[in-house]
Amino acid sequence: MSNNIQSWINIDSSSDFSIYNIPFGIITVNNQTKVASRLGNFAIDLSRLFEIELLDDLGFEKSDFEATKLNPLMKKGKLGTRNLRNRIQAIYSDTSFQPQAESCLIAIEDVQMEMPVEIGDYTDFYSSIEHATNVGTMFRDPNNALLPNWKYIPVGYHGRSSSIILSGQEIHRPKGQQKPNDDEPPVFGPCKLLDFELEMGFITYDGKPLGYSISTAEADDYIFGMVLFNDWSARDIQKWEYVPLGPFLAKNFASSMSAWIVTLDALEPFRVAGPKQDPAVFPYLEYSGEKNIDINLEVLIQPDGADASTVCKSNYKHMYWNQNQQLAHHTINGCDIHAGDLYASGTISGPTKDSYGSMLELSWKGSRAVQLKNGVERKFIQDHDTVIMKGFCEKDGMRVGFGEVSTKVLPAK
Ligand code: CA
Repeated sequence: MSNNIQSWINIDSSSDFSIYNIPFGIITVNNQTKVASRLGNFAIDLSRLFEIELLDDLGFEKSDFEATKLNPLMKKGKLGTRNLRNRIQAIYSDTSFQPQAESCLIAIEDVQMEMPVEIGDYTDFYSSIEHATNVGTMFRDPNNALLPNWKYIPVGYHGRSSSIILSGQEIHRPKGQQKPNDDEPPVFGPCKLLDFELEMGFITYDGKPLGYSISTAEADDYIFGMVLFNDWSARDIQKWEYVPLGPFLAKNFASSMSAWIVTLDALEPFRVAGPKQDPAVFPYLEYSGEKNIDINLEVLIQPDGADASTVCKSNYKHMYWNQNQQLAHHTINGCDIHAGDLYASGTISGPTKDSYGSMLELSWKGSRAVQLKNGVERKFIQDHDTVIMKGFCEKDGMRVGFGEVSTKVLPAK
């Protein structure tokens, strides 16, 4: 991709939604829900762009852009959505289109963002070596923090898609069983150790039929794009319930995602090499090229009525297992994937104490307070706190970002 494209729209250089981005989302405006893209502080009404015949000959139908989810668009596969994104980019960087295409711009404050995808299946991985090491150090053995399988398998579990929510939607503190004291019976009540997990999610196109696998080399062709993802976690509920089958009610009360899906094509310029994998991985997990992505990530906590404070700065480039390996592993047994499935990275912690992607790690299991502005402290998330995650790539004058995922926690019902 060239790094000297200019839009004829005035876009602030700090905007996540530059001409290099062109993400996809779903908006409601004047009671109509439809497919949109975004440039700076404008949504681009793609159904209108189709109506004025600027998206002809790309193989799309009117109904694809009047859909209330992006799934019909994703059914067109990588080439279809790539051609569409390239066309939008061309239209908004060529002034000869301005007289017509200007009418498709809507001020972002006049639109309501909607859940962009009908998520069929949701898988959560555990692919940050820093996070897995921190958790293993806290709960097991600092000298054997990683379980024996961790460097062989991109470990994951099947989550629940029904409770994945859009940025801006509030959640209630979950209730459940906990066992705060080893020597006493369990108790029931509101979760006391509510936590965020800083993650990225990728969303797939339709895959191959059941029984077939997707290789690491093919994986990019099956990935539509990415979102910011806050995989809410109830640490005290998790600790009591997770043996022997893993996370359940501690995880499925909510996971929050950002509204705009940034395509893998838009992220290509920001590829970087991943960490060296030792021991060598099985051949089906080998890959070539640079498959990690340099995405700057930040988590902020905003107490009720106060300013937001940054509590973590991390980066998606730290991932030990990249998403090509995750998808290859996910399908190596023949498991099929579908358009709209979501795969989260697992908590993205970096190597330093200010780059840990959860309060569990930042407060080291509640043993040290995390400082916010004005003398406020947190060990875990309190009622009326808003957790905000941001992410962006920047290189050679190109900025491509995700906006934010923001969720306020209300008291337990
Ligand atoms: Ca998670």
